[in-house]
Amino acid sequence: MTISQALPEIQELIELDKKHYLHPTTVPKLFQEKGPKIIFQEGKGIRVTDVKGDTYIDGVSMLWNVNLGHGNQELAKAAYDQLSTIAYSSSFYSYSNPNAVRLAQKVVSVAPGDLSAIFYTSGGSESNDTAFKLARFYWNLKGRKAKKKIISITRSYHGATVSAGSATGIEAFHNFAGSRDIDIINARGHVTNCELGYKTDSNYEGCIRDTIEKVGAENIAAVILEPIQGAGGVHVSPDGYLKAVKELCKANEILLIADEVICGFGRTGKWFGVDNWDVVPDIMSVAKGITSGYAQLGGVMVNKEIRDTLNEHDQILGHGFTYSGHPTACAVALKNLEIIERDNLIENAKNMELVLKNGFEYLANKHKHFTKPRAIGLLAGFDLQANPDTDTPFEQSIRAASFVVEHCFNNKLILRAADFEEGKNIVAIAPPLIINKEEVEEIISIVDDALTAFEKTL
Ligand code: PMP
Repeated sequence: MTISQALPEIQELIELDKKHYLHPTTVPKLFQEKGPKIIFQEGKGIRVTDVKGDTYIDGVSMLWNVNLGHGNQELAKAAYDQLSTIAYSSSFYSYSNPNAVRLAQKVVSVAPGDLSAIFYTSGGSESNDTAFKLARFYWNLKGRKAKKKIISITRSYHGATVSAGSATGIEAFHNFAGSRDIDIINARGHVTNCELGYKTDSNYEGCIRDTIEKVGAENIAAVILEPIQGAGGVHVSPDGYLKAVKELCKANEILLIADEVICGFGRTGKWFGVDNWDVVPDIMSVAKGITSGYAQLGGVMVNKEIRDTLNEHDQILGHGFTYSGHPTACAVALKNLEIIERDNLIENAKNMELVLKNGFEYLANKHKHFTKPRAIGLLAGFDLQANPDTDTPFEQSIRAASFVVEHCFNNKLILRAADFEEGKNIVAIAPPLIINKEEVEEIISIVDDALTAFEKTL
C-alpha cells in the first residue's frame, strides 16, 4: 500500500484516537487540536518507523526501557514459545512457575550485596508502591509499628500511582489529582541543594538528615531515591552522596530503597546504578530494562534481613498483582538478561559513554548555551542556559530544550526535554544499549544542527 492509499486510514486512526483514547502526560485539550504526534508502526534496532513510513532514531529507548532495541526476534520467540505453552499462570496462594523462579535466581545473582529475593510486579510504579508496603510491613513485623513515613526527594520520579506519585518530586505528577499519600514526605534533594550553593559532599544529604530530625526516625520506614534521577533531568548522584545517605539511614534504622527502574540492567554501564558507587540498598525497585519493554514486568528486591524476617513470621504477605510473576513476561526477561550478557551490552554502554562524551565536548566548544553535559553509560543529558558561566537560565518564555527536541524530531531523532520547572532546560539522551559508534555520532550531528537552529532564534 502506498502512503497516499494509506492516508485515509491514518486520518481515521487520528480521529478515533482523539475521540476515544486518553493519553498519559498529554494535555487533553491540546490533543484535541493537534492529535497524536506520531503513530508508531514498527521498529528495528535503534530505529522506529511510523504509519506514514517515516523512520526515526529512538534516542531515548522510548521511555528509557527498550534497552535491546526494537524488533528483537529472540525476545519475540521467547514470548511466543511461552505463550504457546502456558501463557499465564497465577503466583497467588503459593502457586509458582519455572520462569519466575529462574528469573528470581538470575536477578539475585547479578544484584549487589545481599539482595536475595524478589517480589514481582507489572511495572515501576507498582514496584515502588510495593517497596513502601514491604518496608512498612517489615517494621510491623519488627514491632516498630510507628515506622510508616517514606522520605523522597525533589526532582525524583517514582511513578504515578497514589503512593509512587506522592513520592515523585515533580509537581505535575505529584499533585495531579490534588490528593496524596500523606505518609510520604518530599525532602529537598541533592540537585536543589547544589543550586542553593551547598558545595561539599557532606551537605548533599543534609536535607534528608534535617527531615529525619524533624519527622523523627521512629516514624520513618524508608528513604527512596534514584541513583541517577531520570525524568527529573538526568541528575547524577555526586560522589559520596549515596554512601552518606546509606550511612544516615543505617544510623537511624531506616531502610534505603534504590529506585533502579531506569538505571537497572546495564543502562549506566554497570548492572545497577548503585554499582557505580558500590552502595547496597536494603530494597531495590526494578522494571523497564528487565524485559527491555517487550513485556510488562517489574519487581522489588529485598535484602537478606528483610527476607529472613518475612520468612520467620506467619503473617500473610497481603499484597500482589494478577500479573506478579507472569510466566511470559519472565520468559522474556530471562532471554533479555541472557542477551545482555552474551552480547556484552553493559560493556558496550560503557564504551558508548565515551563516544557520547566526545560528542558533548565537540558541542560544548561550538555552542555557548550548551552546558553541564553528563553521561554515565547510556544515560545522558545536557542543560541549555542563557549564560553557563554565570549559571543564568533562559527566561521562561524561551523554551530552549523543547525547541531543540522538536528540531531533532523534525530531523528524525526522538529525544526528551525536561523543562517542567521555571528556568530548567534539560535534554535527555538514552538510546538502546545495542547502539554503535556511528549511530551515536549520528545523534550528536542532529543535536548539533538543532543547537545551531536554536541560536539563530535568539
Ligand atoms: N521509577 C522510575 C525511576 C521511573 O523512571 C519510572 C517510569 N519512568 C517509574 C518508577 C514508574 O514506572 P512505570 O511507569 O512502569 O510505572
